[in-house]
Amino acid sequence: MLLSIFNRLIEHYGPQNWWPGDTVIEIMVGAVLTQATSWKNAESAVETLKTNNLLSPKSIRNLDQNTLGNLIYSSGYYNVKAKRLKALMNYIYDQFNDDIETMSSCDIETLRNGLLSIHGIGEETADDILLYALEKPVFVIDSYTKRIFSRLGLTPLHGSYKLYSDFFTKNVCLNSKLYGEYHALLVIHGSATCKPIPKCKECCLLDVCKTGVENMKFSSIC
Ligand code: SF4
Repeated sequence: MLLSIFNRLIEHYGPQNWWPGDTVIEIMVGAVLTQATSWKNAESAVETLKTNNLLSPKSIRNLDQNTLGNLIYSSGYYNVKAKRLKALMNYIYDQFNDDIETMSSCDIETLRNGLLSIHGIGEETADDILLYALEKPVFVIDSYTKRIFSRLGLTPLHGSYKLYSDFFTKNVCLNSKLYGEYHALLVIHGSATCKPIPKCKECCLLDVCKTGVENMKFSSIC
């Protein structure tokens, strides 16, 4: 079922090829900067760091927090995010001596626990980093995923992060490329079609969606 949903989404929207970013550090920085804001705002802050040749753990550590905050102003909550970025880069130095290959070779549990121990890095951001930067097969769960799969009738709306991530990893083979594409497709589906007020009539999942079928019955009566 989950693979057939993926196939329909990719056929409808096309491959999304996430995450935009040329390096592991750029992807990590983007994952922090996009917290609580649109990708457009985060991307502009990433570009500023890139243009100033500051997308390395050492450069970010060496910047004072105010300067870094000013550089990433467009991403919103810039002081908080400056602190988080510096904490993430300190972690990479303390644990891996800035060696991304060593970091990538660690197991998922060690990395996830380490990332979650950093102030301001929650489960979604940690999994963005694990999946897109370090290419680990973890499924990123966000509000779009919860909304779509609860409407489909496959999961409860208010299930825990773990309930959702277990649901995907148990039912879809462990593959970071597949997981990355799947999450990206859910984001576009949740923002373009399965919105807070869903556009069920034009949805590529309508015939397999419990909520969509109910909505269509209701709209045909009205
Ligand atoms: S049919 Fe409607 S509720 Fe179901 S996934 Fe599509 S847009 Fe969402």
